[in-house]
Amino acid sequence: SLKINELCINCDVCEPACPNEAITQGEAIYVIDPARCTRCVGHFDEPQCVEVCPVECIDPDPAYPETHEQLLAKLVALGGAG
Ligand code: SF4
Ligand code: SF4
Repeated sequence: SLKINELCINCDVCEPACPNEAITQGEAIYVIDPARCTRCVGHFDEPQCVEVCPVECIDPDPAYPETHEQLLAKLVALGGAG
């Protein structure tokens, strides 16, 4: 999963760009649901939220250092692989 840091300006550009509906507006800044973020594996070559974010405030989440295979498995579990 990726993680949005405190530099987020709440611009809402990333939310509709996410193919897994993993991004929502949180209390202070936008947040990524680690259970839904596949780092865009299976959908796009590059994380779409990172591509569109104007302030580059989205980083890898150190709490979820997932392999490509784990991300693919998550995608399948979400029903997004077929
Ligand atoms: Fe959504 Fe992809 Fe960003 Fe993860 S990396 S939050 S799946 S747009
Ligand atoms: Fe925050 Fe970047 Fe998403 Fe805008 S695109 S809401 S700045 S994480």
